[in-house]
Amino acid sequence: MAVDQSGVWRFRDLLPIVDNPDNVVTLREGNTPLYDLPRCAKLAGIDWLLAKHQGMNPTGSFKDTGMTAALSVAAERGFEWVACASTGNTSAAMAAYAARAGLRSIVFIPEGKIAWGKLSQSMDYGALTIQLKTDFDGCVRILTDLVTRFPIYLLNSVNPYRLEGQKTPAIELLEQLEWQVPEHVIVPGGNLANGSALAKGFTEMHHLGLIPRIPKVSIIQAEGANPLYRSLQENGGKELIPVKANTRATAIRIGNPASWRKALRALRTTGGWCEQASEQEIALAKAQIGAEGVGCEPASAVTLAGLKKLVAQGKITREERVVLVLTGHTLKDSDYTINYHRNELFTEAENAGISADDQPLHAALRKPPIVLEPESDAVLRALESHMKLTHLTQPA
Ligand SMILES: *Cc1c(COP(=O)(O)O)cnc(C)c1O
Repeated sequence: MAVDQSGVWRFRDLLPIVDNPDNVVTLREGNTPLYDLPRCAKLAGIDWLLAKHQGMNPTGSFKDTGMTAALSVAAERGFEWVACASTGNTSAAMAAYAARAGLRSIVFIPEGKIAWGKLSQSMDYGALTIQLKTDFDGCVRILTDLVTRFPIYLLNSVNPYRLEGQKTPAIELLEQLEWQVPEHVIVPGGNLANGSALAKGFTEMHHLGLIPRIPKVSIIQAEGANPLYRSLQENGGKELIPVKANTRATAIRIGNPASWRKALRALRTTGGWCEQASEQEIALAKAQIGAEGVGCEPASAVTLAGLKKLVAQGKITREERVVLVLTGHTLKDSDYTINYHRNELFTEAENAGISADDQPLHAALRKPPIVLEPESDAVLRALESHMKLTHLTQPA
């Protein structure tokens, strides 16, 4: 049965949200791989590091695990239209699941601030795509008004059924680890739903007696979109300080996150931390994850950047076991990757801001395409000079 092949619905006993399993809308999401990252572990200064790659879902991001849940509810309730505001991945997921169910979908995305790979998906899956001349937070405002005037089922991340679906990777992760609980799980933070969904999954497993304790869930934001981090620094999380978000990690380019209270509760109940990562730190971490043959989209790489900081601060120790949640596939934003490798990603000021320690790491990782005459000698010379270069810049 299709529901048994889904990494979300095979946990349906813990997911009592549809009355009839025949109404489930699935693309066989979940069942994502867990990779070890030995070189990234070494770079971060720990012995044991795994990545749960949620980018290996049908539409290339973790949003599928929540979307299969919420879209199934929309279908069961007989809605004809579904809608979301999105930095890209939610709309890709919603458009795909709506198309499977034969529902119409409408996507609001901020103009010019989303990765082309994601935008192409919502068109490919047949959504009505509306680019509003505003940012993500502006899209949310319009949509919130629209749902009061037109019978649309809202699929933003505040939708409670999405959270139910997004808690299942926590269960799957522990199943893959044979119920050995890691000390830390690290997730990126944008609209701040995912961290709390995973914490919910761990907490429920703990209540059911499946695990003896819960891992610390830490949330990492981009420095340019850091409202939770900033609020914790400035008022201990009493109130959210919205920011004007700006980061190349477009999936987490959110200044006024809807689920910040839930995220705060997740940090407090699990004992995790909130950190931030600069644009340069994100790019370096992304290239390092790529260099292990795994790859991820920029937003996912904040997890490794944040891990390095938490280790440096002594909050994570060498022997503790850490799992990074890689939220999106590397092909979601290939422009970012190409610009990075061509050294065209950063402004001069940003380049100057890269620390002396990190400069050679970037230099060794960058692999821009080399244009040559079609002659073996020319290729050989390029190969030799490349080997000399990587030899000089490779960290010991
Ligand atoms: C949506 C998304 C995030 C942020 O998740 P939130 O639940 O909004 O915090 C991070 N990475 C990727 C790739 C995403 O698509």
